[in-house]
Amino acid sequence: MKNKLNTILADANFTLTPLRQDILSILATHQEPLGAYDILNKLRRKRPNAEPPTVYRVLDFLIETKLVHRIEAQNTYIFCSHLSHDKSLHKAILLLCKSCKKTFELEDKNIFEAISKFAKKNVLEVDDALIEMKGICKNCFSAK
Ligand SMILES: [Zn+2]
Ligand SMILES: [Zn+2]
Repeated sequence: MKNKLNTILADANFTLTPLRQDILSILATHQEPLGAYDILNKLRRKRPNAEPPTVYRVLDFLIETKLVHRIEAQNTYIFCSHLSHDKSLHKAILLLCKSCKKTFELEDKNIFEAISKFAKKNVLEVDDALIEMKGICKNCFSAK
């Protein structure tokens, strides 16, 4: 994840301030979605004076720059694990493990094309699409 993060940062056509980098690397080193306050608590280990509005502002930026997905239903955030996402339309299909909270992100062009086709057919303008699937991951299943 850390290497991916470095590649993303090297390729990005924007600069990340140290604060943005700190928050992004918190997200990049967690495979489970984090709430804004989880992020804040982790950030405070390095920046004791960090305040919630700062975190929200940075999260908005990271979502806008397609580096992070927001899972609206649970109000959490997850690092986008794909380098070559279709970043024009931030579509994502996430598989969430209900037991360990690990998140897996699917990237399959065909599926996303099918979604776009479906949307166009119904003349819907989709600017953000996030599909959530919940279940038990392989690890947790075999640990039972
Ligand atoms: Zn993504
Ligand atoms: Zn699991």
